[in-house]
Amino acid sequence: MTLSFRARLTLRLLLAFGVVLTLAMAAVYAGTRAFLYRDLDAQLRTLAATELASAVDEPGDGVHLHEFSIPGTQEFADKFVQLVREDGTVLMQSPLLGTVPAILPRAVLAQALAGVSPTMDVSVLGRRGRMIGLMTAGPERYVVAVGLFADQLESTLRTLAWLLAGVWAASLAATAVAGFTIASSVLAPVRRITERAAAIADGQFDARLDAPGSEDEIGRMTALLNRMLDRLRGAIDANRRFAADASHELRGPLTAILGEVDVTLKRERDGTEYRRVLAEVGQRIRQMGDLTEDLMLLVRAQERRTPPMAEVSLAVVMRESIESVAGLAAERSITISSELTPSLVAYADAGLLRRVFDNLLRNAVQYNRDGGAVRVSGRLESQPGEWASDAAVIHVEDTGPGIPEAERERVFERFRRLDASRSRRTGGTGLGLAIAREIVELFGGRVQVLPGVQTGTVFEVRLPGGRAADVTSAV
Ligand code: ADP
Repeated sequence: MTLSFRARLTLRLLLAFGVVLTLAMAAVYAGTRAFLYRDLDAQLRTLAATELASAVDEPGDGVHLHEFSIPGTQEFADKFVQLVREDGTVLMQSPLLGTVPAILPRAVLAQALAGVSPTMDVSVLGRRGRMIGLMTAGPERYVVAVGLFADQLESTLRTLAWLLAGVWAASLAATAVAGFTIASSVLAPVRRITERAAAIADGQFDARLDAPGSEDEIGRMTALLNRMLDRLRGAIDANRRFAADASHELRGPLTAILGEVDVTLKRERDGTEYRRVLAEVGQRIRQMGDLTEDLMLLVRAQERRTPPMAEVSLAVVMRESIESVAGLAAERSITISSELTPSLVAYADAGLLRRVFDNLLRNAVQYNRDGGAVRVSGRLESQPGEWASDAAVIHVEDTGPGIPEAERERVFERFRRLDASRSRRTGGTGLGLAIAREIVELFGGRVQVLPGVQTGTVFEVRLPGGRAADVTSAV
């Protein structure tokens, strides 16, 4: 049978506390016993000294005993005395002893006669006691052996033992109850997590674990598990969207290609016509390739697999992006100017950042008027708060028709185009801004269309950034 974790925890607590408690009580008992016996010995020595003095206090009269017997009282009953000769025979003794021979053994009597005054445990008339032997000084030497019964002390110790045993049992019972209660309350969050995890395992991917609201081990574990679930959810969603988007968006060009091919094959055509159709088919396939690539990029960004981040010179990445659209801009006499200082850096991944700038610049050129202008600028903005890193703020401005206020956020949605026919003509996939936003957010940044711009459009990208310490190596 396997015990529950709660039961095992309680048992271990009980065992540990039981051992500590037993040791503590044994120490209390032993300490008290030693203390009481030491006290008894002190009494015994005092009594024995008095007894010795009184045994020889009448010169010429020899030795004698001072025995009082008060009928009906126990007052002196605890004391017993023997006067023993050097040869070990009893000269006189307390009446209560009757005719018992010398209680102290010979060796101890010898020690007493040598002036050592030994004390020892004795058993007299079936009762335990302590006894001391003192030597009389005089022509004839005797041993005055004085004893005290330890009944009272032993009975006190017995009471103490019972008391300790009672406290021991009650403490252990209380520990068992407290241990079980504590184990239950400690394990309550774990039980809740298990129940919720079971629901999630059954397919409720939206469910999350209740945060205990504390920054302890359980709180951190819950937060981590929730983060893991968020990422799993993100990955599942991204894949689901990818499948839906891909099948939806690829169906259009595929149908067009098939239609074109079917019409062309209906009758014999000349070489020029075949070439024209093949060129069109090739163009559509290229578009499909772009779309698939964009969708894959979007999925990866949505899965939030954080790429390795480095200090990236914005001027360098922007220059590459500008070069990639330079041909397109020249065709329509659009001028592109960049005012990015080489020292301005962002903490990001250069390759992914390039995709963001490519998209923004291509849009700025594509949705511009002929002979228009594109202006790129950047600055470093310090953030309030000691721990927030500074923000690199990049603006991409154009002189195109602008984006209506109501569409400022919606252009970042997947496949959102303001003017479908115009955008189709420009060959965009409608995913550029969605990808840009996913990537920028991946680096903890933000991208938006600035509000209140009168002519043209200004895209603002904010990224955690700073100034490169070594400008020449950054450029
Ligand atoms: P597309 O592939 O169509 O360019 P995007 O996601 O890059 O897709 O852009 C979404 C839509 O936002 C575009 O179709 C266009 O209508 C609009 N848009 C983007 N950039 C600009 C801009 N600089 N000026 C005006 N409209 C823009």
